[in-house]
Amino acid sequence: MAFIKDEIIQEIRRKARIEDIIGQYLPIEKKGRSLKCVCPFHDDHDPSMSISTDKQIFKCFVCGTGGNVFQFVEKFEKISFYEAVVKVAQMVNYPLDVALPTQEKPVDSRFSDFYKVLNESILYSQFQLESVDGIHVKEYLHKR
Ligand code: ZN
Repeated sequence: MAFIKDEIIQEIRRKARIEDIIGQYLPIEKKGRSLKCVCPFHDDHDPSMSISTDKQIFKCFVCGTGGNVFQFVEKFEKISFYEAVVKVAQMVNYPLDVALPTQEKPVDSRFSDFYKVLNESILYSQFQLESVDGIHVKEYLHKR
């Protein structure tokens, strides 16, 4: 699990404007001074989700889903909180130095192909001795 320090999370949160981040996922409507969008967390038709640029939070008044910019990305993308932080950091070009778990192949798999080839070549030489050519070899060996 990637670990990101709290102060870095706060810094990314300060850099990321929630209206810009949500705007990358959904069309945002401006209604007077408030921003609204269709809630992606319930079957919404009227824009029920409002975005507070002052508080940098979102809140749906129908299904009650709300939170900050990270929680939006977390819920929308169905990813972990830390993955959402990394994603938002990328969106705002914040240089985040996090070692995310990468898929590494087990060490043994590098050798398994080699063993397979080796095993096949052993089987092949055994087969060769029993084949027609092998019979000649055996006859030759008997004659001696
Ligand atoms: Zn909703």
